[in-house]
Order: sequence, then C-alpha cells, then structure tokens
Amino acid sequence: MICQYRDMADVAVRRVDFGYFVRPAQETGSGQPRVEPCLGYVVDHPRGMLLFDTGMGSHPEVDAHYRPHRAGLREALAAVGAQTSDLSLAANCHLHFDHCGGNPLLGAIPVYVQGAELDAARRTPDYTLPELVENSRFEPVTGQVEVLAGVFLMPTPGHTGGHQSLIVRRADGAVILAGQSHDTATQYAADQLSWRAHRDSHSQPLPDIPNWIDALQQLDPRIVYFAHDRSVWTP
Ligand SMILES: [Zn+2]
Repeated sequence: MICQYRDMADVAVRRVDFGYFVRPAQETGSGQPRVEPCLGYVVDHPRGMLLFDTGMGSHPEVDAHYRPHRAGLREALAAVGAQTSDLSLAANCHLHFDHCGGNPLLGAIPVYVQGAELDAARRTPDYTLPELVENSRFEPVTGQVEVLAGVFLMPTPGHTGGHQSLIVRRADGAVILAGQSHDTATQYAADQLSWRAHRDSHSQPLPDIPNWIDALQQLDPRIVYFAHDRSVWTP
C-alpha cells in the first residue's frame, strides 16, 4: 500500500473546459437564467490517462433550450495539452447529454459507467441523446470499482440513480471528481457540515444527507471538483 501511495503522488488532475450553457429561468428557481460551466477532468496516471466526462452533445431542441457555447472534445483536450489518442480510458458521471457528448469520438476507448445509469439511459424516453449512448463503447460496472491503481469509481446517486464520482487516492489525501453529485461546491459544503453535525451526535433535527457523504469523507478528501461549478470544496 505504501508503495502504491507513493505512485499516487504522481497523479495529476487537470480540468477540461467544455464551455457553458444557459439554464432557463424556469429551471433555476431564481427567476433569472443561469450560465453554467460544463467541466470534465483528465487524470494523468502513470499507467494511463483517464478522462472523466466528455462534454456536451448537440441536438437542435437541446441547443434551443440550453443555448450551449460548446468546446468540442478535441478542442477542449488540446487546451490542456492532451488529445484523444493519449487516453486509455474514460468515464461518465452520468449520461445526460452534457456529460457524454464526446463519447462517440473516443472510438475503442472504454467508457466506464454504472450499469444502472446505462439501463436508465437506454430505457427512459428523453433521458439523453440516444445517439450518444448508441455510439459509446461502454464498460458497465456495479458499485465501487478500481479502474487504475488508486483510482476508483464510487456510486454517488441523487442527481440520477446511477450517478458516480471518481476518487483519486494520493499520498496527501483524496482528490474527488464529484461530477453533478451536487450542482455547486456550496451545496457540497452544506452537506459536509451536516455530516459533521451527525457525526458529532449533535441534537436533532438535522438535515438529511446522502449516505455516501460519509464514505467520501472517510477518504480524507483534499479537494472536491464539480461538473457545473468552477468553485471547489476544500477542508
Ligand atoms: Zn449536467
């Protein structure tokens, strides 16, 4: 284990900017539209480069609704000095159109997704853009799975039933790519503080939180990144 953790110190995580979209006022609850970033992450592991989320798909109705300002997969990777041929594997936090848009450009590169999420995407009308699902080389998994030494997927359901996060264990703690487990780092911070109050056996009532917050916090996260927020959570 010690040896593995020494390896992990070499694992760098780079943010990939896939552009932004405008969430219409009727979906924000604030009476105002909101511009949201679309972010993925490259994990530079000694045994292979992993891409977590692949950007926004395109469809006339979706584009009219969300008005995306899109950076395609190749362009977005190039901006961080990478290209698709550098990738060994990929994963999607979930399969809505704004997380798997570049999947069809990955060719034979396997894309790890929770099986429950893939089932939902295949069976639920209007779940996502069907061509993105049909043209991906999915590697369905169930539960927590190590995909590279010290790098593993963990189910973090909520936004969708099959949502997953990616954990990168490093000598100095874990880097967590939380996708859309929370829309914002602030929401994660609220749940983390509630988790702390539960742990302290603070008097009830306390807010309900997802049960996987405990599993994430046990990993000693040093930083938590999100798909739709440039802000991050740190302890
Ligand atoms: Zn999203």
